[in-house]
Amino acid sequence: MTTILNADLHCHSIVSDGTLSPEALAARAAANGVELWSLTDHDEVGGQHRAAAAAKAHGLRYLTGTEISITFAGQTVHIVGLGFDADDLRMQQGLRQTRGGRGERAQEMSASLAAVGIHGAYEGALKYVGNPELISRTHFARFLVEAGVCRDTQEVFRKYLTEGKPGFIPHRWATLGDAVQWIRQSGGLAVIAHPARYNFSANEEFALFSEFKSHGGAAVEVVTGSHTPAEYVKYADMAREFGLAASRGSDFHSPDESHTDLGALPYLPGHLTPVWDLLADRIQ
Ligand code: AMP
Ligand code: MN
Ligand code: MN
Ligand code: MN
Repeated sequence: MTTILNADLHCHSIVSDGTLSPEALAARAAANGVELWSLTDHDEVGGQHRAAAAAKAHGLRYLTGTEISITFAGQTVHIVGLGFDADDLRMQQGLRQTRGGRGERAQEMSASLAAVGIHGAYEGALKYVGNPELISRTHFARFLVEAGVCRDTQEVFRKYLTEGKPGFIPHRWATLGDAVQWIRQSGGLAVIAHPARYNFSANEEFALFSEFKSHGGAAVEVVTGSHTPAEYVKYADMAREFGLAASRGSDFHSPDESHTDLGALPYLPGHLTPVWDLLADRIQ
């Protein structure tokens, strides 16, 4: 194909921490001119059949997707999988394991918020949860906005839900090797999500890219809702340096919270290999 394609290969539905259904996302993607779409719920493939069917109904090409939480060098990193078999049992088992600690973590987050005077956060967050196995920091953020503690979810993350802040509970997710393996053995390609979002030193970032590549990782998100234009350039260079293909995705979660709508990003820079070129036979 071409880099000049309105591909949006990263977004979230109510099956994880988005606010729209897979069907509403497909309709919104089609209305916004997306030509190739993927729903990439966190640690979950429960929305894949609905998303693929809805995409088909809108004449929208579709790739299966998920965004796997891993721990690398003491930080949470996200690895997107694209074009895998959503019915693959090892993938489903790996994701179930990854989701496993979320309930307990949420209880601890709630206790930690209570210690600074914010009560009932677990119950409050639960009201926003669409999938009982997927309670996330985003659901807590929505509750803290509702409770009037902060103006918006960005402020909640800044003040409460990030490393060193009162509601933050460190968590150990999957390993990089496992996540890449689950994606590859189910026929898909692994993509480093929004690399500029991590607080890695240059050495740690180099290690992430090298180890990802040595596990058989295929691509990196270059144009994402989480990057500035300067970061598009930086990660386009990194893609070339490491021999990785490039991906593009809004990371859309909600019409009320996300600054970047589905399909609204600039195209990939022309000198890169788009990850969808490597997935032509996986497009539905
Ligand atoms: P969790 O998987 O429970 O740790 O939650 C991670 C989710 O929180 C991400 O997928 C984002 O949707 C959201 N998130 C993380 N950092 C921020 C931030 N600074 N502002 C808004 N949302 C964020
Ligand atoms: Mn999210
Ligand atoms: Mn992410
Ligand atoms: Mn995401």
